[in-house]
Amino acid sequence: MVTEATGQCLCGAVRITVSHPPQEVNACHCGMCRRWTGVALVTLDVPEANIRIEGRNAVRSYVSSDWAERCFCGQCGSSLWYRLTAPAAPRDYYLAAGLMDDLSGMSLANEIYTDHRPGAFAFAGPAKQITEAEFLAMLPPPAQEE
Ligand SMILES: [Zn+2]
Ligand SMILES: [Zn+2]
Repeated sequence: MVTEATGQCLCGAVRITVSHPPQEVNACHCGMCRRWTGVALVTLDVPEANIRIEGRNAVRSYVSSDWAERCFCGQCGSSLWYRLTAPAAPRDYYLAAGLMDDLSGMSLANEIYTDHRPGAFAFAGPAKQITEAEFLAMLPPPAQEE
């Protein structure tokens, strides 16, 4: 069992260490994630207590909605993580999986906003397929997420 995983942005200014990394990734096909990443946002979902971040002075935040921010490296532009900002929201990091040095052995668990996924972006594997309406129905009201 892997107990620690490391990653970094393209230029290396931001370095990330995740303890007890999940062995599954999730993908979001919403329009904001598509524009932010170029394809889809594929994340490792990590509780705040399990992440260590070096180079925080290079981290920039884009407030993408009333309830979430998207952080990126101010030097190289790499997408870093998505976080909910509402005071009551979980403080988890939805960390861009592509930052990690080694993604071997991980599987794709869930794809959300599948009804927004362009036909050209089919992913392999039997991930659970969740549409926008199905995803919003899973959230506790009145939260919304994109
Ligand atoms: Zn960078
Ligand atoms: Zn999204």
